[in-house]
Amino acid sequence: MKVNLGIRARIFVFYLVVALTPLIAVDYIWYHSSRDQLTSSASDRQAVSVSESAQRLSQSMTDKLNAVVTHSQENGFVALDPDQISTSLLHYAYQDSDVKSAAVADPSGIEQVLVQDGKATRPLTDISSSDAFTAIRQVTSAPYVSSVAYTNGQPYVTVSVPILAFNRLGDQQLTEAQALARRYGSDIKGAFIVTFNLQSLFQSVVANRIGTYGYMYIIDSQGNLIAHPDSQYLASHPNIMQTNEVSNALKFLSNIDLASAAASYHATPSVSKSERGVQVLSSNFPIAATAWAIIGEEPVANVYSSAHHISIIALMILLLALPASLLITLLATQGIISPIRELTEGAVRIGNGDFSYQLHIKGKDELGTLARTFTAMAERLQKLIGQYQTQNLKLAAERSKLQAVLNTTTDGIIVLSKDYKIVLVNRMISSLTSLPDVSIIYGKPWLDVLPLTLNDKPLENKQLAGNFTSLDNIILRLTDKMRYLNLTAVRLENDPNGLAYIITVHDITQSRELEAMRLDFVSMAAHELRTPLTAVRGYLELMIRNWSNSEANKKYAQHAIATSDTLGSLINNILSLSRIERNAMKLSAKRLPWSDIVQSEVRNHTFAATAKGLQLGAALPETPVEVMGDELYLREVVGNLISNAIHYTETGGMITVSVAVTGDNIKTTVADTGIGIAPESIGKLFEKYYRTKGGLTTNSQGTGIGLFIVKSIIEAHHGVVGVESVLGHGSQFYFTLPKPPEEAPHVDTTPEHTETQGVNKVEWL
Ligand code: ADP
Repeated sequence: MKVNLGIRARIFVFYLVVALTPLIAVDYIWYHSSRDQLTSSASDRQAVSVSESAQRLSQSMTDKLNAVVTHSQENGFVALDPDQISTSLLHYAYQDSDVKSAAVADPSGIEQVLVQDGKATRPLTDISSSDAFTAIRQVTSAPYVSSVAYTNGQPYVTVSVPILAFNRLGDQQLTEAQALARRYGSDIKGAFIVTFNLQSLFQSVVANRIGTYGYMYIIDSQGNLIAHPDSQYLASHPNIMQTNEVSNALKFLSNIDLASAAASYHATPSVSKSERGVQVLSSNFPIAATAWAIIGEEPVANVYSSAHHISIIALMILLLALPASLLITLLATQGIISPIRELTEGAVRIGNGDFSYQLHIKGKDELGTLARTFTAMAERLQKLIGQYQTQNLKLAAERSKLQAVLNTTTDGIIVLSKDYKIVLVNRMISSLTSLPDVSIIYGKPWLDVLPLTLNDKPLENKQLAGNFTSLDNIILRLTDKMRYLNLTAVRLENDPNGLAYIITVHDITQSRELEAMRLDFVSMAAHELRTPLTAVRGYLELMIRNWSNSEANKKYAQHAIATSDTLGSLINNILSLSRIERNAMKLSAKRLPWSDIVQSEVRNHTFAATAKGLQLGAALPETPVEVMGDELYLREVVGNLISNAIHYTETGGMITVSVAVTGDNIKTTVADTGIGIAPESIGKLFEKYYRTKGGLTTNSQGTGIGLFIVKSIIEAHHGVVGVESVLGHGSQFYFTLPKPPEEAPHVDTTPEHTETQGVNKVEWL
């Protein structure tokens, strides 16, 4: 999700990120580093307290035990003299205020002397089964020390040593004999048993504080709590051997040579769980003389409390300073935000077209400059928009003028872009495409809108490639109609508006239809003329046969036949021309006995030639030749050329029709000795309706279509026509036709075996 923040909110976020985060980070780092320092100094402090207290207690207990041993060796004790013992014990108890009672028993366990509360008595009670007495038989140099027992809230411990005749206690090594003597009591003169009140010694330990919250307590070698600052907790006598620190201490106390191990012991405080389940910094120190240990503990929370407090205070100061400094920041940025707001408001108003908006930002700083630039820009913009609107109005007027001109043009006009898309069309195109709103075709490829075809193939853009292209007889097929069009395309070079072509469309559908109607009419009229002409000719032949008695009549009739033949040729020519123009000339491709056909055409014209006093002859190859083609049309060709030769040769002239084989072609030539043709006319002879001027042609009848038909028929047979002529000396008209294949093909007159030649189609006549 994207959140849009205002400038003020951004400043606030920036402030938080840039200012507050590093401060909190510093506070955090400071807190952690000071915690480590505090832990290390608390560890040092604790190690010192615990080891000092332990060494003090250890010293006191060693002194007490040594005193017991020393006393047990006094003479009076060895001799078991009650008086001496009483005196010594009273003195001893007086010297050590911790001594609650001191007694000497004989080897059988009868208590001989007891000193208690400053009095010596002789109780003579049997203590032979007490722990303190039985312990004297232990084969050890150390005194027996009982476990600490509390009576009336006071801790007591009982210490006993044997009273020996020969060996001083404290010797480390006993011989085997001495050990045996000890075990069976043979060298034991009695027992010295002292009970100490340890209240003041223990108090000197547990009353000590480590730092402000740290404390110490004492455990024995079984993990029993024997001294603790919390008397209620102590009263419950908990065994706390399972706590981490105590079990470490007990492990050390189980050391065989505890005394020497303890001498080099160092307390190493570490964090663990206390006997009461609190996270503490704790350490222990052994008391070798009694196999006790002092445990020191300081709650971790208290160790760190000072660092914690300071960091909380620092954070509080930061939080209190936050709103104040934020307020100061926002006030300081107010001077930037207000102008920016005004600028924003101005930009929105100007964007909405209100150029009258005035900015009130003064000052010479960047914002002042920005405001002045902004105002100047708005004024310039207003001016430009004014100019633009005026120009637009002018352009609109120009455009409507142009549109009016284009729309009054009867030809269609299409303007195309470089990628052949429609940019503009006039009204004629819209009526051509029957579109009520031409704007929908703008931007579309023009050939999609106008599906044009040329020679039955779709028109392509590449056909406009030239600078000027003229394409005639284009067909536009629309769903309901078909139009014939002539197109003229002009290419625009480097047009700044990206225009590429202007195409003018001329609709020739109507004139084509009129032309077709005309050709149909001519064709029909010629057909209609041919029938009566044939009848007239038949009657004339009949007259010659029946009126042979009159030479004059015969001659008249022959003239009439010759004239009707000329008329027939003319009608045939008109029919052929009409077929050619309607593209309806249809040829059959048959193997023709060409020598015979030429010979027959020469014969047909012999009368006309003779009548004019001309010699007409044929020069044919010895071997008759054949051609492929349509007999009727080819007869018309030969007939036309011979007729022309007769027509344009003066009396006494000679006409020769020759046939020769030239390569794959059969060349037929009609040569005359007539008037010849001027060189400038030769190139135009085969054009439709062309006739030379002057000479025989001036007054002669002719249409100028004969040679055009000749050329059209020969080219439809894949042949060529030509003429060679010298003015005043005669002409040679020739044409070629392809030789038929060697093997005589099967003559088939079905339409599939007819050839379509050029633009003409085969028609069965
Ligand atoms: P027409 O003969 O009906 O005028 P053609 O197309 O047959 O039309 O001939 C065109 C023109 O060519 C003629 O008018 C004539 O001037 C010229 N011409 C044709 N044949 C010959 C020829 N054998 N000798 C001289 N001129 C000729």
